Amino acid sequence: MFEPRNHLVASGELAGRVIAITGASGGIGRAVALACARSQARVILIGRNVAHLEAVHAQIAAMGAPEASIAPLDLEQALAQDYDRLADAVLERYGRLDGLLHNAALLGTLTPIEHYDVPTWCRVLHVNVTAAFALTQVLLPALRNSADAAVLFTASSVGRRGRAYWGAYAVAKFALEGLAQVLADELEGITAVRVNTLNPGRTRTALRRQAYPAEDPATLPLPETLTHAYIALLGPASRGISGQAFDAQPAGAVAGDSSAASSS
Ligand code: NDP
Repeated sequence: MFEPRNHLVASGELAGRVIAITGASGGIGRAVALACARSQARVILIGRNVAHLEAVHAQIAAMGAPEASIAPLDLEQALAQDYDRLADAVLERYGRLDGLLHNAALLGTLTPIEHYDVPTWCRVLHVNVTAAFALTQVLLPALRNSADAAVLFTASSVGRRGRAYWGAYAVAKFALEGLAQVLADELEGITAVRVNTLNPGRTRTALRRQAYPAEDPATLPLPETLTHAYIALLGPASRGISGQAFDAQPAGAVAGDSSAASSS
């Protein structure tokens, strides 16, 4: 059985592949971008913080990996022409796209539904779902040009079973699971594009710190320890696998994790 969290990355596993990653400026997105480059992918770094993206770009160059490119895009502010410009640039530079990781996300606030701020709700749904839909839509022609393309949405345990106070973030993650299933079904049999979701599980990042300010970060795995699961789902290892939901960590895998329900 295909199990991305047990995947052993082979040297040069992503050689020749072009992979775009949203939210590549920090956290899990940055770690996956560096790991993909280390596996010889040409990485497109998508994000809103150009200085941070440039730092990741420089790290990739310093590794001697294939040159990355930077695609500035603020998923909250971007308009149709910004998406079109990005898609045109991908086609012009690479002619195709072999992998698309939707990783960027906003947490919003942890608040009961009864009191959830409506503008915050709209922002979170927009960045976490609508922007991922819009980006997928404009990049589908480039994905279709690949002999073997993967679209991967980032899931969360609160988007697989609802949990009190997670509000728009949880609802957005449920929506991504639905989007992935609908898209996988539409593309099956007529394209070589596969679509899956991956829940990283509790990970030491800014988003996690925002959600659990009192938690000791040292108890959480670093993003770098989870990248093999992303490579499995973005690369040739997952060929033919579509419409499925995966986890990068087994439930309760982290020492001292008294409750698997505390993952975000
Ligand atoms: P981080 O906060 O470290 O990273 C989030 C990324 O999203 C950043 O690169 C951020 O960019 C980017 N982003 C946010 N808003 C926008 C925007 N408007 N336009 C462009 N980029 C934006 O969080 P994680 O690394 O933890 O999160 C990565 C993914 O993993 C998310 O989808 C999250 O839901 C998921 N996840 C994380 C878990 C965890 O425990 N960490 C658990 C389960 C799921 P910027 O640097 O500009 O802020």
